Amino acid sequence: MKIIDTHTHDYFSSFDDDREEMFQRSREAGVVAKIQIGCDEVSSLAAVKLANENEDFFATIGVHPNDVKNIGKEVEYRSKGFEDYQPVAKNIAELETFFANLIEQDRSTPADRSTKSREIFGGGRKIVGIGECGFDFYHDKKEDFYDIQKEALTMQFRLAQKYDLPLVIHTREANEELMDFFATTPLTPLSGGNEREKFAGFSDFENKSPHLSVVALAKTEPPLSRGSSKLRGVIHCFSGTMEMAKLFTEKYGFYLGIGGIITYNKSTELREIVAEIPAKFLIVETDAPFLSPHQWRKKNSRNESTSLPEIIAKIAEVKGMGELEMAEILEKNSRDLFLLKK
Ligand SMILES: [Zn+2]
Repeated sequence: MKIIDTHTHDYFSSFDDDREEMFQRSREAGVVAKIQIGCDEVSSLAAVKLANENEDFFATIGVHPNDVKNIGKEVEYRSKGFEDYQPVAKNIAELETFFANLIEQDRSTPADRSTKSREIFGGGRKIVGIGECGFDFYHDKKEDFYDIQKEALTMQFRLAQKYDLPLVIHTREANEELMDFFATTPLTPLSGGNEREKFAGFSDFENKSPHLSVVALAKTEPPLSRGSSKLRGVIHCFSGTMEMAKLFTEKYGFYLGIGGIITYNKSTELREIVAEIPAKFLIVETDAPFLSPHQWRKKNSRNESTSLPEIIAKIAEVKGMGELEMAEILEKNSRDLFLLKK
């Protein structure tokens, strides 16, 4: 079984004591690629660094809705090597510039980089998405934080479009707000190519990169589009309603990220959704160190990618498919969304 963990936070300090062993365990469980998800300035850097230290890892960069209020503030300890990190961006506009800079560094050739950034960016071409971003009114009060969360999400929509990267969307107690945002936010039409095509060295990159297949997108219409504007992504850790699942898959062509929640006894609605939504819209994730699946949770306090076979088995059961067949579809979907080459 080949598995891609499309959403994990392995830079968290809860992995500091046994990170390498954990990587080894998950590889033995069949995890062939992992996407390290950034939540703010420093964790985005940590995600990129981890991706450059491990050939089978990739990263996304972005700001989580609950971290928007902390932009520019001293951060809590998140990852080894970044203990003394001081944030650069003081507001959402500066963070947009910071993230854009990271993407351009990631897409530049190593020789063009400073020594310091070479440490983080390695061979480059590791940033495969924007986020996690979205709305969360479970941890933050809507009255106080709706406006800044919306501003941060709008900023990340812009980056996703400009750099042709998929969005990793987080939503908690905010499904109405998210649907409303998608319905009302105008997307910049991308006529005459986009930044990805304009990058110097873009065309010869495809010959060098073992990971990203850019040819597929350049030659055909992107699989996911909305009018003339491209926008693709995943609703991570999906736990919304059937109506919402249909809206995001059918109308916006988004994927649903399915994690440990599907194994919980109470998750009847989610299992109904997974049974109903076509398999081509599903990808699998852990959100490690959080949201352990049912069996894994009995023995481990912390989730990790090694638990993914349990989640895939449950998805396969719900869809009435064989586990291997299911795993193959999930792997292909993940490669399609994040443009990961086989
Ligand atoms: Zn997450």
